[in-house]
Amino acid sequence: MSGIEQYFGEGFDCACGRHHRTAFGNFELSHGAIKKLPEILKNLGFKKPFLLSDTNTHLAAGAEVEEVLKASGIPFVSHILKSPENGNLTPDERTFGSAAMGLSGEPSCDVVVSVGSGTINDTGRLLSFLTGREFLLVMTAPSMDGLVSGVAPMIYNDLKTTFPAHAPLALIGDLDVLVKAPDIMIAAGAGDIIGKYNCLNDWKLSRIVNDEYYCETIAGIMGEAVRKTAESVNGLAAHEEQAIADLTEALVFSGLAMDFSGNSRPASGAEHHMAHYWEMQALFEKRHANLHGTEVGIGAVIALSVYEILAGMEKPDFDALKKGAYGRMPYEAWEQEMRRCYKEGVDAVLTLEKTAKKNDPEELIARLDRIEAHWDEIIALAKSAPSPEKIDEMLLTLHGARRPYEVGISKDKVHDAIMYAKELRNRYTVLQLMWDLGKLPEVADVLTERYGG
Ligand SMILES: [Zn+2]
Ligand SMILES: [Zn+2]
Repeated sequence: MSGIEQYFGEGFDCACGRHHRTAFGNFELSHGAIKKLPEILKNLGFKKPFLLSDTNTHLAAGAEVEEVLKASGIPFVSHILKSPENGNLTPDERTFGSAAMGLSGEPSCDVVVSVGSGTINDTGRLLSFLTGREFLLVMTAPSMDGLVSGVAPMIYNDLKTTFPAHAPLALIGDLDVLVKAPDIMIAAGAGDIIGKYNCLNDWKLSRIVNDEYYCETIAGIMGEAVRKTAESVNGLAAHEEQAIADLTEALVFSGLAMDFSGNSRPASGAEHHMAHYWEMQALFEKRHANLHGTEVGIGAVIALSVYEILAGMEKPDFDALKKGAYGRMPYEAWEQEMRRCYKEGVDAVLTLEKTAKKNDPEELIARLDRIEAHWDEIIALAKSAPSPEKIDEMLLTLHGARRPYEVGISKDKVHDAIMYAKELRNRYTVLQLMWDLGKLPEVADVLTERYGG
């Protein structure tokens, strides 16, 4: 993949009728990229960076960043958060508070430089945003696609909350560092991209059913990122430099695609909703969360299995479905299920349904009309979707988890995710389509049996 720069700067007028533009425009991906940090800082006019890392990322790259700055005579403050004994730092109040306290005594620091890829990235982008500083990111692993996004997902009051923040002014990926990233992080980054095999179908599905905005250019950018990653799985498993570079670019492209569309539609579908659902459950149970991309990969296998079931379906009796729309899901029963599944996070779900009306009988009937009219097109889309086995093989090659039980997700949480993860967002996916067709409970039973362990 190359030519990422063509999308920077002024942006472009797209065939979809919109002007696409990103604020992000400084991407240094190379051997020894960390050595270029002093020059990048100088070019951007920064004099004293506040370096944010944790014990793990300091070891991976932070110490080198410090050496490079020292050698070039740039003063800096280094704040190293303590990583837990086993696992990674959580992006919560404690982590953010520690970073903020570290910065509070250093008013002369004019830029926050995060050295990390997950928690340290999000913490740094929020901290810099709130304190009116710019933000730079030195990546330590190609583990997820939120690199250039303008928001910071954090854990707040035990709930995942997305805070407005800003994208890094520059992103530095040192291939000497990235090739040493652990298998699990590389597999997670690839999983986040491989999940797009599903979400691009969900986007097309919603265009067919809801006439949702769809951009061929953005979908094309994402499709290319997915293709490159899929071709690189053997190289990624061997930590080959070219493969790692391709994955890193794919993750950046994914971020650009979201920037261009103005939401996460090109990068997130049913596979992400299920991943978000499981992540919430881990929070409720105070268990350590899996890497985001790990759960996205597992979700993609399940979501593509739903497409596979759809591809084999006979045309349903739409008149009967429309007649039964009013008895489908009494609100009280639905709310009870939401309280069971979403616990202290239920308010957001109940509020969303008031505007989204996904389960409203009249909306359902209107959708069934459109699904009926476009049935052949929908089946053709389902038939063109990649097989779940293909994703399975890729995850196996990457030494990544493929089944929920491998990462502590119980059978009932697989069933609940298939049934109710759709309630997390107002975004049409194959799960909502199956609900519309009255098939979702059956699909949940079949796939929980197949994948739940
Ligand atoms: Zn467009
Ligand atoms: Zn993702």
